[in-house]
Amino acid sequence: MVKVAVLPGDGIGPEIMEGAMVVIKKVAQTFGIDFEFRYGEFGGTAYDSAGTPFPRETKKLVAESDAVLLGAVGGPKWDNLDRKLRPESALLELRKSLDLYCNLRPVKYYPILANKVAWKPSYLEGVDIVFLRELTGGAYFGEKGKTEDGAYDTISYTRDEIARLVQRGFELAQKRKKVLHSIDKANVLETSRLWREVVTHLNSKYPDVKVEHLYVDNAAFQLVINPQQFDVIVTENMFGDILSDQGAAIAGSLGMLPSASLGSRINLYEPAHGSAPDLAGQDKANPIATILSAALLLRFTCNREDAAQGVEKAVEKVLAAGYATGDIAGEGSKVVGTKEMAELIAQSI
Ligand code: NAD
Repeated sequence: MVKVAVLPGDGIGPEIMEGAMVVIKKVAQTFGIDFEFRYGEFGGTAYDSAGTPFPRETKKLVAESDAVLLGAVGGPKWDNLDRKLRPESALLELRKSLDLYCNLRPVKYYPILANKVAWKPSYLEGVDIVFLRELTGGAYFGEKGKTEDGAYDTISYTRDEIARLVQRGFELAQKRKKVLHSIDKANVLETSRLWREVVTHLNSKYPDVKVEHLYVDNAAFQLVINPQQFDVIVTENMFGDILSDQGAAIAGSLGMLPSASLGSRINLYEPAHGSAPDLAGQDKANPIATILSAALLLRFTCNREDAAQGVEKAVEKVLAAGYATGDIAGEGSKVVGTKEMAELIAQSI
């Protein structure tokens, strides 16, 4: 039995989550996976009913679960609250409490989005990249401070912090194209030299994986001129923050971008986008990012590659048949709402 805490959140959160649940329930039936779904209040709506964006019952629910599937939080209604009471604070607290060290972001090009991307479609044909960004170390968490006439941020990493992230990259590369791009700035940074050393050392445990080391400036350039060369990318926190957003442009819409944040026990799965208040309650939001996040749950929490691919292929099939929500629609698309898109995907499983 896989216990999933379902936190729909605010704005479009409940709609996209409903869509993901239609799909995951169909997967459970088709692939014989036993789930227990328990819903919790989280974000602005939780603040409205419980006076806090991360109520005690939700914390308990999360602690008793194997994974968390989250919609999105936030919205103008809660923007003026005290920082601690804002929905986004709940998100930070949730992520911190789970000790998530690996942020995984797949970016895939679907030909139906040819008119939405800034590239010539021929550059993107077949692009399917997974970014693995280290989440707990680097400049964002190092010692920082202000002096009289300056300021500083420190980047620091331990071998173990690097190894646990990179190991995930090797494991994933082994199941995919057996190519791992490791991005650093080893010509300048000591932490990057350590990063490279750890990657090279771990490569001996995964000799079938070919490692390519790239400096981050060159990686940014290569992602634009030749994204087709990449498959699995591992990198440290700040480089990953920037490069994964750069790569996200390949997907053509925020509504297509799933994510997983992996820790030592309970993983968090959520779309990369926010609560899109401009679309909330109108059956217009694209549920695919959340549905693909559920596919990641099947892959990384349930260890069911077959079911994960079942979902990903169903998404491809529905898009190839010309169905699209407003954000990804082009000339000749059959425009559908959130609900119908989810139902079409579920039917294609
Ligand atoms: P956003 O991601 O919510 O929206 C940006 C744009 O993308 C909007 O035009 C929106 O309509 C569109 N969009 C987003 N998701 C979509 C989907 N599934 N289908 C179709 N279109 C989609 O970012 P924002 O407008 O900057 O933020 C809105 C609220 O969300 C804010 O309160 C912000 O703090 C919050 N937020 C939450 C998260 C999270 O929960 N992880 C992340 C980012 C922002």
